[in-house]
Amino acid sequence: MIQQNLLDIKSQLPNHVTLVAVSKTKPVADLMEAYNAGQRVFGENYVQELVEKHEALPKDIQWHFIGHLQSRKVKLIAPFVNLIHGVDSLKLLHEINKEAQKNNRVIDCLLQIFIAEEESKFGLDEKELTEILSSEEFKNLKNIRIIGLMGMATFTENQDQIKKEFQKLKTIFDKINKETIGKDAINRVSIISMGMSGDYQLAIECGSTMVRIGSSIFGNRK
Ligand SMILES: *Cc1c(COP(=O)(O)O)cnc(C)c1O
Repeated sequence: MIQQNLLDIKSQLPNHVTLVAVSKTKPVADLMEAYNAGQRVFGENYVQELVEKHEALPKDIQWHFIGHLQSRKVKLIAPFVNLIHGVDSLKLLHEINKEAQKNNRVIDCLLQIFIAEEESKFGLDEKELTEILSSEEFKNLKNIRIIGLMGMATFTENQDQIKKEFQKLKTIFDKINKETIGKDAINRVSIISMGMSGDYQLAIECGSTMVRIGSSIFGNRK
């Protein structure tokens, strides 16, 4: 079932879109099934779970952290994580930079932008994003690399609203790529991580280059 789901979804994705298989709460056997169907990029939301799965599974898997990351837990994933999606503060960037340095690596990050209507969603607004990118402090963080933006739409059936929110993220993405603010520090911004099981087709229409899909691959979570 997992393998078939994966193949079905992959057959619908354009070549420029990366599929992150969101495997939170699922057992390693399920991840292995996806792995055996060729999937190498997995996304997890919880640090402890990510660490355990990293230890248990093949080493050529690329692990993305897609949850809300607490500063004090960065050190646990810094040795191996390939991409951190939800970064939304300079404080967290500092911490990731520090732990990356200790591990002699550069860690790729996406900045999370707040696009939803819900109060509960994390993320930066456009002004905060610009402030971070143009700060001297940020430019001195040599062990992180901002390679794109991430966003989550409102949990709603209203397709027009979701579309508007995705378009907003795309507009911000195009703007920071055009403006000079990012030129030195972020000249490789190329990823827009948006779209989940319920809305990834719409996200791709709106410019997404990375979709995070869980339940459509692995089935519903408990
Ligand atoms: C759980 C989760 C997903 C996947 O959600 P599905 O609806 O199961 O595809 C994607 N992104 C984030 C940030 C998540 O927490």
